[in-house]
Amino acid sequence: MSKILIIEDEKEITEVLTDYFELENYQVSCSWDGADALVQFEKFKPDLIILDLMLPYLDGIDVLRIIRQKSQVPIIILSAKKRDRDKVLALDLGADEYVEKPFSPKVLFARAKALLRRTNQFIKSPIHNRATLENETIRIDELSHTIYINGQIQSFSPKEYELLVYFMKHTNQVFTKVQLLEAVWGVEDFIDPNTVTVHVRKLREKIEVCPTKPRWLQTVWGVGYKWVEE
Ligand code: CA
Repeated sequence: MSKILIIEDEKEITEVLTDYFELENYQVSCSWDGADALVQFEKFKPDLIILDLMLPYLDGIDVLRIIRQKSQVPIIILSAKKRDRDKVLALDLGADEYVEKPFSPKVLFARAKALLRRTNQFIKSPIHNRATLENETIRIDELSHTIYINGQIQSFSPKEYELLVYFMKHTNQVFTKVQLLEAVWGVEDFIDPNTVTVHVRKLREKIEVCPTKPRWLQTVWGVGYKWVEE
């Protein structure tokens, strides 16, 4: 049974979401402030986190930053903040998705489920895990879910990992942002297109010698992105 930690100070929201997840046999724990959330995170060991940004005692952004220093657990931000810079900051810090309030519990639930399914697939699926992907710089061991950059282990968020695997399995093909959203996030209509841009930038920072002049993950102007291997 997957465990969901909901970090949110609006009781109505935690109640609605708790009902939703519990009905589907998920185990739910709630935290109503940022400081308690970190304690809950250690104790409850969630498989997925739903995180509000405006929280008492410790801001959601700080909670995100602290959790990401030690864990790659999937995190969905649920926030009333609608500005692009808030979204980009959260995604930059390693959030997997960003859902704006007001929100549909049904859609949020579907996204959480899809995110968990994809994360679990990477951990559990024996067929998927057999291959090793590599080039001169990067080696991905899918069995252990480990990425080596020039022989050094580098950590990637679940979505960064999936996006990198997708690119390396489809070399020299051009993809639009929408195609990448569909392939990696699974749904394209309610995810901000910034998500792809931010993840591409973060991948480049981790894998490219010069992120502004990428060797592997290249921009095809006016179309999208392409993983280039000769
Ligand atoms: Ca709040």
